[in-house]
Amino acid sequence: MTAPATAERVGFVGLGNMGMPMARHLVAAGYHVQGFDASAEVMRVIAGLDGFTAAPALTAVGAGAGAVILMLPDSDVVEHVLLPGGLLASRPPGSMVIDMSSSDPARTRDLAERALAAGVTLIDAPVSGGVAGARARSLTIMVGGPEEAFAAARPLLAAIGSRVVRAGDVGAGHAIKALNNLMSAAHLAVSSEALIAGRRFGLDPAVMLEIINGSSGRSGSTENKWPNYVLTEKFDAGFSIKLMVKDMKLALAIEHATGTPATVSEAATAAWEAAAAELPPDTDHTAIARWLDR
Ligand code: NAD
Repeated sequence: MTAPATAERVGFVGLGNMGMPMARHLVAAGYHVQGFDASAEVMRVIAGLDGFTAAPALTAVGAGAGAVILMLPDSDVVEHVLLPGGLLASRPPGSMVIDMSSSDPARTRDLAERALAAGVTLIDAPVSGGVAGARARSLTIMVGGPEEAFAAARPLLAAIGSRVVRAGDVGAGHAIKALNNLMSAAHLAVSSEALIAGRRFGLDPAVMLEIINGSSGRSGSTENKWPNYVLTEKFDAGFSIKLMVKDMKLALAIEHATGTPATVSEAATAAWEAAAAELPPDTDHTAIARWLDR
């Protein structure tokens, strides 16, 4: 599709479970998205969508655009996309790269320095809220980068999520995201163990959830994941177990690097790694409840 002459362009790399609904909100807000994805199927889909152009090559993403958004699996892929021969070399000085993936904060800081040497500002803006939040435009977006870059990126980010918060300097968003997911994963594992034990004890899980969600044991896992994805046996939240384990390891690295006690975090990560070792990597993370109940 051709871009309307008036539409502001934005590049978007990684149109998977999260990236696609996020990019659709940009189009709904009046942007023209120049998309690129390693999947031929994704490229075929976006080539047929109004408001999108399928970029002919990675280095063509964001031609004429002030910003390129990345929504990729991890820092390995982000570096592969940006570094020698990649996107960074093709971005003009003064432009911006916004890494919305859940990446490694230490590697993000290094990348931001390399980008700056090329005159490009790289900021991190990972999200929380899952695929449901991406579709509903209710994501929380945590931004790491200088104040001026945050102000410049804010209109784009506000088109994607409902809560856009500057977390601190570059890498701050990625650090908070990893720590958040460590907490979320630990909640889901311990909630699942407790709810499975209660059911085996003779309690009704739906009644347990009703009581716990008005009590001090509640969490996003008891309020959202158990009722919507576990009890329904759908296990289709749209976030894979391999990506959850990646985030937990990033958070553990922060705890270790800062000399923080990590006994519970280590135990939770080990439990998730054990599940991930037995399940296919793209298994939905909520299926850990089924795996624990095996
Ligand atoms: P996904 O696997 O569904 O999407 C990733 C996309 O990146 C895929 O379409 C894939 O083809 C593409 N890709 C991979 N390598 C590429 C390359 N070299 N060049 C271009 N495209 C490439 O993953 P997702 O669930 O959308 O997650 C994306 C990021 O968002 C991850 O960092 C994840 O941790 C984070 N995240 C996910 C969720 C969720 O609920 N799924 C929630 C918050 C954050």
